[in-house]
Amino acid sequence: MSLSMKIQGLYSQSYLDLLTKIGNIAYDMELKAYTVGGFVRDLLLQKPNYDIDIMVEGDALPYAVKVGQELNAECKLVERFHTAHIYYKDLTIDFSSARKEYYGRPGELPIVSFSNIKDDLYRRDFTINAMAMSITPDKPFELVDLYKGNLDLAEKRIKILHPRSFIDDPSRLYRAVRFADRFGFYLEANTEYQFDKALCINAPKTLSIKRIAAEIDKCFQEKNPLTLLSKYQTYGLLKYYHKSFIEYSHPTFSFGIVSALTTRMKRNFPQISENAIFWALLLSNIPEAEVKQLQNNSGLPHSVGNQVSEALDTWANIENKLQIAKTNFEIYKILKDTCPEALALIYLKRNSKDIENKICIYIDKLASIKPIITGNDLIEAGIKPGPQIRQILDKIVEKKIEGIELTRKEEIDLARTIQNI
Ligand code: ATP
Repeated sequence: MSLSMKIQGLYSQSYLDLLTKIGNIAYDMELKAYTVGGFVRDLLLQKPNYDIDIMVEGDALPYAVKVGQELNAECKLVERFHTAHIYYKDLTIDFSSARKEYYGRPGELPIVSFSNIKDDLYRRDFTINAMAMSITPDKPFELVDLYKGNLDLAEKRIKILHPRSFIDDPSRLYRAVRFADRFGFYLEANTEYQFDKALCINAPKTLSIKRIAAEIDKCFQEKNPLTLLSKYQTYGLLKYYHKSFIEYSHPTFSFGIVSALTTRMKRNFPQISENAIFWALLLSNIPEAEVKQLQNNSGLPHSVGNQVSEALDTWANIENKLQIAKTNFEIYKILKDTCPEALALIYLKRNSKDIENKICIYIDKLASIKPIITGNDLIEAGIKPGPQIRQILDKIVEKKIEGIELTRKEEIDLARTIQNI
């Protein structure tokens, strides 16, 4: 099946029109434009991928500006890297200039110069990610496969483009394991040899903690993060993130449990982050001071950093308090200000049925019990602002937790009675 037929079978007409429009703008500017990387790989695998990477031979910046204008979309330029991002409806379209990369020192970011498609594809991690598809009207949806990526896709293998690949950029070691796991592929013989060689010389040591954290974070987006993490561990890749992972053993629960728990908790905690739960689980056996150090060194993605450190700071302490709670209201009082990720951590790491029951009662039932009235209602009803407002609201919750149903008026009456006592 041709690429053109594949793309028509996979995407809506409006999506195809968008790609065509972006291609036409390039053509009018006498530029050659392509979609590259994961988009093309996934297209050949017949999987939709809405992360569009556009690469042009020439300067991507004026081109991206023009596309932004024509689409009436926000365009963000990153002048330093000659890249740009366009935010169009719910899509992010990335633009880059075809470039050649030279690695001064292994593990560091490369020195970059403008070049052509051949060099741009050659600088990529694996042959399956080194294909492009032309989008200009002279060559609509035509595959550019200079390094036999399509054959490697068909043969289910991960193959580097040159022998120094893993040394130049050891993050590719993590990527190789990730893609092999995602697609059920194997490492081609020479790739495996270079992979082992890079590990033998501890190549990941040259990576910053931030880059390793970014790779771990990507693993949490995969279908089965915990299996993938254990593969990283089998290859000895996790210890470069933190020394404690020399002895890391695979957690006894599966991804399914984390995922089911997150879905279950979403009802009462809509802001819960599954990603943050994974990070908190991963870091839960590392001493607090070292987690702080990781966070200060960008070893935790910004998007989850605060939730993860809050969960790690509180879960053990709260679990201890929970052990002695007797009534539902006591459980409520202990857990009411706990972040949802800490609740999840307590549940996942529990070692007694008692803790499991208490957490479940809270996340499924107690957390949704709230007064109808607010602090402002109480002030309007003549109650003086101050700590008593919180106490009154807690008392109303306590009654509700005991099973007493209250209307709004009954809540205000109850508040007045409490105030008079
Ligand atoms: P995913 O489906 O996980 O998003 P992707 O292939 O789109 O996979 P990205 O990390 O978004 O992965 O990278 C986009 C493209 O950039 C890749 O397909 C690859 O061509 C190139 N690339 C990314 N990281 C590297 C790297 N470390 N070394 C070389 N090329 C890379």
